[in-house]
Amino acid sequence: MKIHEYQAKEVFGRYGVPVPVGAVCTTSQEVIDYAVKLGKAIVVKAQVHAGGRGKAGGVKIAKTVEDAQLAADAILGMDIKGFTVKKVLCEPAIDIKDEYYLGVVQDRALQTNTVIVSAAGGIDIEQVAEETPEKIAKHPIDPITGFQTWHAWDVAKRGGLPPAAIPGAVKTLRGLVAAYLASDANMAEVNPLVLTVGGEIIAADGKMVIDDNALYRQQALQGYHEGSDEDEIEAEAHRQDIQYVKLDGNVGVIGNGAGLVMTTLDEVTRAGGKAANFLDIGGGAKAELVRNSLEIVMMNPRVKSVFFNIFGGITRGDEVAKGILQAYDQLNLKLPIVIRLAGTMADEGRRLLEGSPLIPAATMQEAARKAVELAG
Ligand code: GDP
Ligand code: MN
Repeated sequence: MKIHEYQAKEVFGRYGVPVPVGAVCTTSQEVIDYAVKLGKAIVVKAQVHAGGRGKAGGVKIAKTVEDAQLAADAILGMDIKGFTVKKVLCEPAIDIKDEYYLGVVQDRALQTNTVIVSAAGGIDIEQVAEETPEKIAKHPIDPITGFQTWHAWDVAKRGGLPPAAIPGAVKTLRGLVAAYLASDANMAEVNPLVLTVGGEIIAADGKMVIDDNALYRQQALQGYHEGSDEDEIEAEAHRQDIQYVKLDGNVGVIGNGAGLVMTTLDEVTRAGGKAANFLDIGGGAKAELVRNSLEIVMMNPRVKSVFFNIFGGITRGDEVAKGILQAYDQLNLKLPIVIRLAGTMADEGRRLLEGSPLIPAATMQEAARKAVELAG
């Protein structure tokens, strides 16, 4: 789950990262009121789940109240990479002398949480990594020793930060890593960390991504969830606790067990087709869940055929068959459904389906071929 800059700054601030004190506004009037109250230059920043807001015109400095109004009018309602700006963060403008990059990510190659520092801040870190990788310093965090002050000191120096920025960067790094670990994040980033003309260190931007699988134990962060970014069908599946991921093909896929469903997606591709989704009904699914799952798959108008791939273990073939028949009755289905049913109670299931419009298949490969053919 991505969270907004102002939310990331709330979290970072709790762990000792020096963040500006700002206000979230949803109307131009609120921005004007903030500018009047502050009585000096402000920065107005679009709050959307997309990076590169600066380049897109979503970050503006306003020296006067009139400028603040113009900035608010320009940014509120603006579209940034497909997201409409509904909120802006207003903060006192910073007199920036220098900009740096600090981040923590789950590094799959190094198999650790890894701290990244670069003196080339303010710009896209991916671009720095590609064009001038020597400007990036990394520190893989040892899970036994943890991230200590001397580690922060060392990586900040290797990242090329000047002496004036190092004490502030060390404090920020320690706070950032603490916030990252405590929040079950996959990524936490300050870009830029700024050195002000006055010699202060401030986190001018903040970004954090929380591991969705840990949200159940991150009570404090659940309030940050915004359904609107989610695909409509995925959101409905979520509400029903159904494991569904939308894809861009036209063969609907339902199976039991994540591994089997992944294999099913591969088989559809091998047969020359493209899957419309991933849907795992899990182990021991009852008829009602089968029915609801079909309903979710059918919500996608691109679906032209459905491939049911069930290997009965604790899932019973007759329950699956009952669910599909229920769905046929209740949902008035017109699409061809190909089913491969094997394992526990598969014979009973197949008997139940006799005379129905369902298309049986003996193997996964045969089912994939048929489903792809029927999808056109
Ligand atoms: P991003 O483009 O989405 O990463 O948004 P940022 O918050 O990083 O802002 C982009 C750029 O705007 C920063 O790199 C800064 O150069 C500039 N910026 C942001 N806040 C301030 C501020 O308070 N004062 C000044 N002068 N520049 C700022
Ligand atoms: Mn930034």
